[in-house]
Amino acid sequence: MEWSRFLNKAVNFIWPDLCEVCGCTLVRGEKVICLGCRLKLPRTMLHNEHFGPIHHHLAGKVPIERAAGYFYYYRTSPFTRLIYAAKYHHRPKVARYLAAEYAREIISDGFFDDMDIIIPVPLHRFKQWKRGYNQSRYIALGLADVTGLPIGSNLVATRQHSTQTRKGAYLRWLNSQGIYTAIHPEQLHGKHILVVDDVLTTGSTLLACCEAIHRVAPTARISVLTLAVAHLQ
Ligand SMILES: [Zn+2]
Repeated sequence: MEWSRFLNKAVNFIWPDLCEVCGCTLVRGEKVICLGCRLKLPRTMLHNEHFGPIHHHLAGKVPIERAAGYFYYYRTSPFTRLIYAAKYHHRPKVARYLAAEYAREIISDGFFDDMDIIIPVPLHRFKQWKRGYNQSRYIALGLADVTGLPIGSNLVATRQHSTQTRKGAYLRWLNSQGIYTAIHPEQLHGKHILVVDDVLTTGSTLLACCEAIHRVAPTARISVLTLAVAHLQ
């Protein structure tokens, strides 16, 4: 047996890969999430809807072409661990893996047809420096792995969000105004752009990003994709 395989087996024996959701030991062929949890994942199936709850939530100044979210996100659900792993527990590869899996599930329905570029929602420089990475960029990487679409860095967070968790929808919207700027509009004119983020909660962040793009490139068409969708009322 080669050394690397031996080592791999030894590490796996001491520290086996665990399902991010239920904590069971993953078996050969499973990654990040076990088969049982994968089957139970509360998929939204919203990617096929022409005007579904995500569109409704983001309805504003900017028309949204397509909208997709992989799974529903309830505060008490064990599936929230998938987002926590990617966002707070230094495992952004979880986001990349899930995004690739999601892309594989919806690509044949034409969700990515005629799209030109994927743009992740940016983090402010300071936050990214503290965290070490931007989880939304890893989602973009996972989507690009499957679709082959390029990733753009055209969105920039010009000021920091103040913490949003205890604010109502209007205040959150107000708070996200003017945070994002789109740069290099010449790359965006007339393009179909997919804006990606980890979770859709009130939609204020995504909406602010779509508005920033629309301001500099009004001819661009915009679609959105998130991994999780907080239960929309
Ligand atoms: Zn599991």
